[in-house]
Amino acid sequence: MGREIEIYRRLLDHYGPQRWWPAEDAFEMIVGALLMQQTAWRNVAEAIQNLKEAGLLEVRALAAAPVPVIRRHVKIAGLYRTKPKRLRDFCRHLLNRSDGDLTRYFDRSTDVVRNDLLAQDGVGPETADSILLYAGGHPVFLVDAYTIRIGGRIGLFDTNAYDDVQKHFETRVPRDLAMYREYHALLVAHAKALCRPTPSCNECPVRLLCDVGRGRKR
Ligand code: SF4
Repeated sequence: MGREIEIYRRLLDHYGPQRWWPAEDAFEMIVGALLMQQTAWRNVAEAIQNLKEAGLLEVRALAAAPVPVIRRHVKIAGLYRTKPKRLRDFCRHLLNRSDGDLTRYFDRSTDVVRNDLLAQDGVGPETADSILLYAGGHPVFLVDAYTIRIGGRIGLFDTNAYDDVQKHFETRVPRDLAMYREYHALLVAHAKALCRPTPSCNECPVRLLCDVGRGRKR
């Protein structure tokens, strides 16, 4: 068994199933991913709640809403000059592409949907992959700063490049949707609990698999 699978098993044993994402449906998940850049989840959750209470958490409603109105509701999520317009434009794109039907939108090959997402304003690889994985049901390995930190410390790879880290996992971990969703969530949990900027290696469930934990790397 490769280290990537063993790490997954140990993290799952230690933290238990995380069962992400904290959103009620695929559209809410997309809105969350688009608002998530450079802010904390609690701010995104509040922005989503504001949209919900205003009757705007729906693709047609958001596509038709004036940007200043959207801005008022999502301001707490930061980047208020760019995020509201991106959100509205993304909804307009969903309407154009699939009449706002998310099942239809995602019912294409992973590469086609990913390229379509990446072509939208403000959507980078991490946002695109979080939408694919958690809203679209496409098994892509979602990479973030935590993945890079933990994987680098363990000694799985020696790169910060998104595509290289993603490829590393995707070539070693079977493409299973539930497992990819859970793996990302477990890495986030681990980065917050133990593998913090200053890691708590003595309590770590993957210490014996880790270069830093075994003192081979500082
Ligand atoms: S042993 Fe330390 S550095 Fe390695 S994964 Fe665990 S907490 Fe992070």
